[in-house]
Amino acid sequence: MKIGRILSGMRPTGKLHLGHLLGVLKNWVELQDSYECFFEIADWHALTTHYRETEEVVENVLNMICDWLAVGIDPKKSVIFRQSDIIEHAELFLLFSMIVPLPWLERNPTYKEQLREMEGRDLMTYGFLGYPVLQAADILIYRADTVPVGEDQLPHLELTREIARRFNYFYSPIFPEPQAKLSEVPELVGIDGRKMSKSYGNTIPLDTEEEELKKLVRSMITDPARIRKNDPGHPEVCTVFAYHKIFNKEEIEEIDYACRNAQIGCVECKMKLAEKLNQFLAPIREKRKIYSKDRDLTWSILLEGNKKAREEAQKTMELVREAMRIKI
Ligand code: SF4
Repeated sequence: MKIGRILSGMRPTGKLHLGHLLGVLKNWVELQDSYECFFEIADWHALTTHYRETEEVVENVLNMICDWLAVGIDPKKSVIFRQSDIIEHAELFLLFSMIVPLPWLERNPTYKEQLREMEGRDLMTYGFLGYPVLQAADILIYRADTVPVGEDQLPHLELTREIARRFNYFYSPIFPEPQAKLSEVPELVGIDGRKMSKSYGNTIPLDTEEEELKKLVRSMITDPARIRKNDPGHPEVCTVFAYHKIFNKEEIEEIDYACRNAQIGCVECKMKLAEKLNQFLAPIREKRKIYSKDRDLTWSILLEGNKKAREEAQKTMELVREAMRIKI
């Protein structure tokens, strides 16, 4: 018995990495058993910021499906679909655009923050300003009641609720007001100690092979005050140690002690981590290969998901058109 319906999605803008896995995907895998889940590959959303770089979108979509399946998103339990295949999203987005007051979008703190963060990109577009309206359409078209989000996404979700409320008030109460499902996730830093992000080039992609993994771990930033092996270390400032805390819990106290007392060298410590990370990623990598080698299989999984998503979206659009009295 499922306790609710979830909509969540990701923009296909590049390879998924460990940060995505711990921050989002692990949570999705757990939610599949208790919720009816719709997982969206948000390719139109990718265009709101990357509208000039469209040559890799399709490949990125395929890679994203491979990653999702490899980490345990199960098409028998969840609906995996691509946003642009469900044309009804565009219709609902357009209809919502008619009723959303402009100041709701202009005051959105995430909008202002992203404009600042993506300096250098021309984001003064109608599509970028309207991004949260498209997001509201994505959620509400499945009449999802729950949305797993991070703190930074809360203003967008509030806007979705406001749009649902406004529509329900003007026409007919057909949309639920979706609630946030906040989850505590361990913060995984990049290999240089900054926030893990593709734009910083500091990620560990999910398909990293063993040798490449060792190379990435070797390049990790450690305690800058530890120059020689017999200098006592400070694990609390070390990126390698931050990873041990997540991927090597059983040895954490031992490493902490050995580092502080100069009983372990950074090279040895890094190799221990590389081994643990490899043990963690190996089954994901192997499963991923099945899907990346058999593109027909992977696309067929998407087509199946698209079909289920579209049926739901069409049902909602029937209700919307009827409520708005724009169809006989
Ligand atoms: Fe970091 Fe390990 Fe070196 Fe200590 S021994 S500074 S925890 S890499």
